[in-house]
Amino acid sequence: MRRAALFLEEEADDIIRCGLCPRRCAIPSGSLGACGVRGNKNGKGIVPLYGHITALALDPIEKKPLFHFRPGSMILSAGFAGCNLRCPFCQNWHISQPASGGGDVPGKHMLPGDLISAALHEDSSMIAYTYSEPLVHAEFLLDCMTLARHHGIANVLVTNGCANAEPAREILSLTDAANIDLKCFSADTYAKILGGVVSNGNDISVFETVLDFIRLACSMDVHVEVTTLVVPDLNDTVEELDSCVDFIASIDKKIPWHLSAYHPDYHWNAPPTDPAFIKEIKNRAAKKLAFVYAGNIAGDGNNTFCPHCEAVLIRRRGYQTDISGLAAPADGEKFFRCARCGGETPVKW
Ligand code: SF4
Ligand code: SF4
Repeated sequence: MRRAALFLEEEADDIIRCGLCPRRCAIPSGSLGACGVRGNKNGKGIVPLYGHITALALDPIEKKPLFHFRPGSMILSAGFAGCNLRCPFCQNWHISQPASGGGDVPGKHMLPGDLISAALHEDSSMIAYTYSEPLVHAEFLLDCMTLARHHGIANVLVTNGCANAEPAREILSLTDAANIDLKCFSADTYAKILGGVVSNGNDISVFETVLDFIRLACSMDVHVEVTTLVVPDLNDTVEELDSCVDFIASIDKKIPWHLSAYHPDYHWNAPPTDPAFIKEIKNRAAKKLAFVYAGNIAGDGNNTFCPHCEAVLIRRRGYQTDISGLAAPADGEKFFRCARCGGETPVKW
C-alpha cells in the first residue's frame, strides 16, 4: 500500500511543487492545487482525497466508450473528485469541480482492496477509473492498478490525458485500455476555454501534453480509443476536426475515434450539436481512419465491420451489443477473429 504522496516536491518557504500535470502548481501550506486533490500540509505534500470514491457503478464497457476492448462486457466503474481542467460543458461538474459549486463532494472511503473486492463481487474482470479525472489521483491508481493486475483484473482509464511524462508512464505501464479525450486541436482553446492555463511561466502546453499522452499510451501497447465531444462554438469546424483526424491517423489509422454530440450542461449554453454535422464529420474521417463512431445521436451507424470480408463483427443498438460476428481468439492470441472469414480483427480480448 503506497499511500504516501507522489510527484509533490518540497521547495523553499514551505511551498510544495506538484509535478503531476503541466500546471505544476506551487502549493502554499494549508492549500490544495488547482485540481482540488493534491495539497500541502505544513510543508509536506498530501493527497487528502486518497480513496474518496464519489461514484461506483457497473456499466457496459461501450459506455466508457470502448468499442474494441472486451465488447459486450460489464465493467465496474469508479469515480473520483476533482479535475485539472475546467471544461465549461463538463457533464460531471458536480464531482469534477468541487471548488465551483459542488462543495465537498459526497462519497465513501474505499481502499484499493475494497475496490478489488467490489469488482470480484460483481464478477467484473475490469475496473474503470472514470467520471471525473482519475490521473490526479495517481497514488490511488498506482496502488489499485497494481493490486488489480495481481487479481487478473484489467485496468481501464477514462481520461483527459493531461499528465506529465513521468507519472503518465508509471500509470500507463499498469493500464490495459484507455479512452483518451482529444477535446479540440488548439493550444489556445485548451489554455483559455478548458482551463488548462499554465500560470507559472512554464511554457509546456496542456494541448501538447495531451498529444504526448496519446502517443505514449499507444507506444506502450495500451489499447487506446480517442473521444472528441463536438461542441458548438468550441471545436465544431471541419478544419479543426480534420486536424484531429490527421493527428490520430499519424499514430495509427486503426485507433477508434468516437465523435460525440454535446448537450448543454454546466456553463455552456450553445444548442446541441447538429446530428447531420456529426455524420458529415464521420464520413470525412472514415476516409483516413478505419473506425469512426458517432455517439449521442440516433441511428444505427456504430457497427464494427471485418476489415477483411466486411461482415458485421459487432452489432450495436444503444448499449446493446451483439458480438456473434466475432470468434474467440486462439490460445496465445490477443485479438478476436472474424466468425465468417477467420481473419484477425482489431477487437481485443
Ligand atoms: S492541478 Fe496538476 S499540478 Fe496542480 S496539484 Fe493538481 S495535478 Fe498537481
Ligand atoms: S476534463 Fe472531463 S472531468 Fe475534467 S472538467 Fe473536462 S469534462 Fe469535466
